[in-house]
Amino acid sequence: MNGSLSNLKSVVILVTMDCDCSCDHCFYFQRNPNHAPIDPDLIDCALESISGQHNISTVHFAGGEPFYHYDVMVECIKRCKKHGIDYFSISTNGAWADDFEVVRQKLDRLRELGVNSIGVSADSFHQKTIPLENVLNILKTETPNIERSMGEMSFSTYAIATYLGYQSYDCQFNRQTQDIVQKIYDSGYYVFPTTAGAHGRANFIMPEELRVNKRLDRKCWEFNIGVLRPKFPESVLIDPQGFVDGCFGVSLGNLYKESMSEIFTRYFSDPNPIIRSLHEKGALGLKELAVERGFEPDTAYYDECHLCHAARDYLREHCSCEFGEYLAPDTCYPPVTDHTGHQVK
Ligand code: SF4
Repeated sequence: MNGSLSNLKSVVILVTMDCDCSCDHCFYFQRNPNHAPIDPDLIDCALESISGQHNISTVHFAGGEPFYHYDVMVECIKRCKKHGIDYFSISTNGAWADDFEVVRQKLDRLRELGVNSIGVSADSFHQKTIPLENVLNILKTETPNIERSMGEMSFSTYAIATYLGYQSYDCQFNRQTQDIVQKIYDSGYYVFPTTAGAHGRANFIMPEELRVNKRLDRKCWEFNIGVLRPKFPESVLIDPQGFVDGCFGVSLGNLYKESMSEIFTRYFSDPNPIIRSLHEKGALGLKELAVERGFEPDTAYYDECHLCHAARDYLREHCSCEFGEYLAPDTCYPPVTDHTGHQVK
């Protein structure tokens, strides 16, 4: 092998793609049919197959909305613990958190299982659908500081606010987010700010005036911690359909077809053309692949990921025989329709 899993420290498990928020900045495009949750056996087998080779100590649960399949998430935590993993975090939109007593019970159980932190989204995107009261219900369960100082933690809940572009960028999304953040401050809680990356649906709302970057020559792992690092990958995502992704929509393989060990053996020795191109030239490599096949790029983009997604969207729509199997899962790409408007992909 030309690489090793010794630096593989974290896995993101997408418990389900089921979600009723449909946020404008989401990594994922909603698809109807299959909202089955992830099979905990899949996680078990994946970890077993690379046992002794990796150093995974952290698992983050996301989705979709992971609390929609709470029992499956609990089972996944138990399976991961069997493999020696002891740090768990969860992202939630809080849609399920309208009853404080239910929230307390669910989070108490997670705390007992060893979950360390739960981040709840609080911004203009999510609060279009989710009452702010739900967010506060989750924040109120935070372990009191006194318990922490006595060594009984570590469990924390926190709110995370996503801004478009950058935090001080003045636009309607960010002004509304700032109002939401102020309300949470007024209730006595802190909010962590973050920005929407140019992934998935966020590409389509990225304001023109922020699309000014012409250089775009950084490789994924040089600006996006650990992503798709060639010889010593640090993190991967696993989704309910079995796809192992190095980044959103960049598939390394599928656990329903081959083992995690086989997926990484190929990643190191014979990566698919999308990954090879990203390793060698980053987003500019994908631009090259797409331009050779008719893609007409803009003169500037928000960042490398913005260009990467634009090139990948093109390749998936126009060259699916050549690249479709490497550009998965579907939910990472805009739906493709035929001339009648019927969705074909
Ligand atoms: S350039 Fe592409 S593959 Fe790399 S981090 Fe950005 S979106 Fe992911």
